[in-house]
Amino acid sequence: MMPTLDYAVPIDGHTRLVGLFGWPVEHSVSPPMHNAAFRVLGLPWCYVPFAVHPDDLAAALAGARALGLRGINATVPHKQALLPLMDALTPAARAIQAVNTVLFEPGRTRGHNTDAEGFARALRDEGLALQGAHALVLGAGGAARAVCYALATAGARVTVLNRTPERATALAASISAEVDGAQLSGGPLNADALRASPAPDLVVNATNVGMWPRVDASPWPDGVPFPRQALAYDLIYNPRETRWMATARAAGARAANGLRMLVHQGAASFTVWTGIEPPTDVMLAACLQALGGG
Ligand code: NAP
Repeated sequence: MMPTLDYAVPIDGHTRLVGLFGWPVEHSVSPPMHNAAFRVLGLPWCYVPFAVHPDDLAAALAGARALGLRGINATVPHKQALLPLMDALTPAARAIQAVNTVLFEPGRTRGHNTDAEGFARALRDEGLALQGAHALVLGAGGAARAVCYALATAGARVTVLNRTPERATALAASISAEVDGAQLSGGPLNADALRASPAPDLVVNATNVGMWPRVDASPWPDGVPFPRQALAYDLIYNPRETRWMATARAAGARAANGLRMLVHQGAASFTVWTGIEPPTDVMLAACLQALGGG
């Protein structure tokens, strides 16, 4: 059995603070993930979760800046609401229209989005070449937006399918307007559209269907064979094996959950704040421990 790892960071007068704004934040694994990396690198930094009510976002941001935090991560429901509060945005944050990482610089607050980078690095771990590949993205919410931006900038052809098809076509049009040479189209998420789609190299579940506690649900319509040549990448990581991943594996396809995307987006945020590449194996181990996976 693996020993329980102690990732507590010592706090003293030299401690530098970063944190997470969310509502709620109780279930986030980001604090143990970042604190594990600080601890292992011997950096005098600490990552703290803050439950920030949506009405208090601007005040909390100003307060964090005044208290000398180096930056924050943002999760639901703050990623879009932060946009107008930033002095500057990275191209990714502007295209994705969401901020998940804030950097407090002297005189200005810069909004980043590391979800797309996290997704691209996770696919690199899977050994998938994206240039010229065909990707099917299920879902058209915030996470799908980051995924589509990452795929389009890497030169993949993307078909976005969503329960509400208008959101899929709007997402495809909006990313196409942001990325030169992007090839995206949108449509409904149903059996006919999946059967009519050209054979994909990659299928991404960017819906929240199958997430704990509704683990018996799947975004894949019954009776549609899963394309066995494709990699099934589920953004969900709780549970670690979703019903959709099991369907893909049963068809002979490879499948992976969203843990590596989570770790890599966190690693990219870590670098934005510290300028240092953190050990992603340590961050992954901390996530697994926090999720109860040993
Ligand atoms: P979101 O903005 O709320 O979008 C939810 C998406 O799921 C929408 O496209 C929605 O379709 C679709 N959906 C919801 N219920 C559905 C149903 N019953 N049938 C079919 N489609 C349904 O959520 P999000 O922020 O994009 O997050 C999506 C997932 O990605 C979550 O599971 C989240 O945990 C995960 N995520 C993972 C990472 C990571 O690092 N691994 C990062 C970000 C997000 P409609 O448009 O029709 O409502």
